[in-house]
Amino acid sequence: MKQRRKTLPRSRPVSVVTGAAGFLGSHLTDRLLARGHQVIGIDNFVTGSVDNIAHLGGNPRFKFIQQDVTEFLFLDTRVDYVWHFASPASPIDYLELPIQTLKVGSLGTHKALGLAKNKRARFLLASTSEVYGDPLVHPQTEDYWGHVNPIGPRGCYDEAKRFAEALVMAYRQEHRVETRIVRIFNTYGPRMRLNDGRVVPAFISQALKQRPLTVFGQGDQTRSFCYVSDLIEGIYRLMMSDYDLPVNIGNPTEMTMLEFAHAVIRATRSRSKITFRPLPQDDPRQRRPDITRAKKILRWSPRVPLATGLVKTIDYFRLKVR
Ligand code: UDP
Repeated sequence: MKQRRKTLPRSRPVSVVTGAAGFLGSHLTDRLLARGHQVIGIDNFVTGSVDNIAHLGGNPRFKFIQQDVTEFLFLDTRVDYVWHFASPASPIDYLELPIQTLKVGSLGTHKALGLAKNKRARFLLASTSEVYGDPLVHPQTEDYWGHVNPIGPRGCYDEAKRFAEALVMAYRQEHRVETRIVRIFNTYGPRMRLNDGRVVPAFISQALKQRPLTVFGQGDQTRSFCYVSDLIEGIYRLMMSDYDLPVNIGNPTEMTMLEFAHAVIRATRSRSKITFRPLPQDDPRQRRPDITRAKKILRWSPRVPLATGLVKTIDYFRLKVR
């Protein structure tokens, strides 16, 4: 028998967001509060920051619990939605924290699913384009199984998320938890950590400091960047939909890292030059989401052009860079 919430929420929906002090978790929390939810945010601040949720202090609909999500989650309230966003998410973070990355993707997902099962809540996993690894299929559709090196430097993240997807499917099948899986492609916007090593904060801070932009390899590897508000809208629609297989959410406008470096230099009106550094091991050569499924099922596609999103992101970083 399919397990459902006992009753539809009569009062405000209650959402639990793991990783609520992170880049995406905090934007998601803002969106949920704006849509009338009560939000319980959980974070252990390993990569999240209190600055990202400081503006919510005193909001009676936001409650924060400082906890590692790999430990048992006890909540004394009704819960309607569990959004599992906790994880280190930048290559330098998970290189530095490989065991924590594996634990939050496996044990943390287990605890968050256990909470959803116990509360009869709907569960959404923040998965990643990294499940496709260094893809041999381009652009990436959800049907592609991926090309991942389990023992390479990205293995701890990629395999944790692949395990998490398998666990979600098992809870759906065995315990009839209502589940959703979003595969998130490169996303950018305010609240990214200045020093998280990812290309967007790296290039913007280098450009603002008039330092050379560090392009890895020849800069011919590609990515496609989605502005955070577009991404959060897609994820919200997915949770509220009745679709339970993975959905790619990202922006399909693809560019090389060299092109992106020039775009950042233009947008910041910087005098910075470009310098080339060795390409990290297993750095995916190309990445672009096929978003046919999201368009069809969620009636979603990204709206914010790179030029507009970059201006907003640069304005945020100007206040942080000294
Ligand atoms: N990159 C770069 N210079 C930097 C940081 C990253 O050229 O200072 C490249 C990196 O090699 C990769 C792309 O930018 O090809 C995106 O890297 P990021 O760490 O943002 O995330 P990824 O998509 O690799 O997970």
